[in-house]
Amino acid sequence: MGDVALESVLTCPHCGFANRETMPTDACQFYFECPNCKALLRPKPGDSCVFCSFGSVKCPPRQQLHGCCAS
Ligand SMILES: [Zn+2]
Repeated sequence: MGDVALESVLTCPHCGFANRETMPTDACQFYFECPNCKALLRPKPGDSCVFCSFGSVKCPPRQQLHGCCAS
């Protein structure tokens, strides 16, 4: 297992607010509420994790090629 980045900058598509978040290592995060505009973010079609859709770094399971989000 290589180095896995656990921090991702999640950018809200509604207001552009950048949220630095620590990702869970063994699960995908489906919802994220923007602390700035209170929008509830959901993954884009084809993704199952908000980090894969809006983050600067893919979620850890995807980095490890388990393909939790990729089917
Ligand atoms: Zn926002």
